[in-house]
Amino acid sequence: MQTPTRILLVEDDDGIATPLRAALAASGHEVRRVASGRAALEAAWGVDAVVLDLGLPDLDGVEVCRRLRQEQGPDLPILVLTARTSETDVVVGLDAGADDYVTKPFRLAELQARLRALLRRAAAARGPDDGQLRARDLRLDLGARRVWQGERELELTAKEFDLLALLATNAGRVVTREQIAREVWQTRWLGGSKTLDVHVSSLRRKLGDDPTDPRYLTTVRGVGLRFEPDA
Ligand code: CA
Repeated sequence: MQTPTRILLVEDDDGIATPLRAALAASGHEVRRVASGRAALEAAWGVDAVVLDLGLPDLDGVEVCRRLRQEQGPDLPILVLTARTSETDVVVGLDAGADDYVTKPFRLAELQARLRALLRRAAAARGPDDGQLRARDLRLDLGARRVWQGERELELTAKEFDLLALLATNAGRVVTREQIAREVWQTRWLGGSKTLDVHVSSLRRKLGDDPTDPRYLTTVRGVGLRFEPDA
């Protein structure tokens, strides 16, 4: 039998925590719930994922997220719950190390799907390291910098490869434009959005993605891009 995944639920509002905890438990997760930021930092050791409310009574949730990332390393999935809908707050949360976010009020099914995607990604990251990254029907050879879609090899430019590798490595989570600028262009800011947009549309074309209904790369308006882990 599979070991249940241990989820740490950090939420001070009983009205949200109680049904959410029940739903996660019903999906086979082992759930521990705490109601403050300090308790979260103590309880996070050994868990498989954290669902973190940003509005906490003691510490700012963004600060909790930053410290979780510092203390627990890069691989612990952190899904942020936020009532803050402004794009800036979402970006701040993602830059603090959150993997993905759900805006309150949320549907339980959506939260569960996002959490599943993060857990899958974490499991894949722990898998055998053969220098190959598999996402959907794509296979990236990170050493040779080559990509196959099914049997067909795609001809990507160096930047397109870096961009796809960054997004596919983070499948299921939003990668901010700032992160893309830093990782792909080694710059703090891309200036206008044109450079990135040009690369994204070229990459979509090569993936056979329809820009009006993209299956691989979703643009998250004002935030960044997400590689969709499911067809
Ligand atoms: Ca709260």
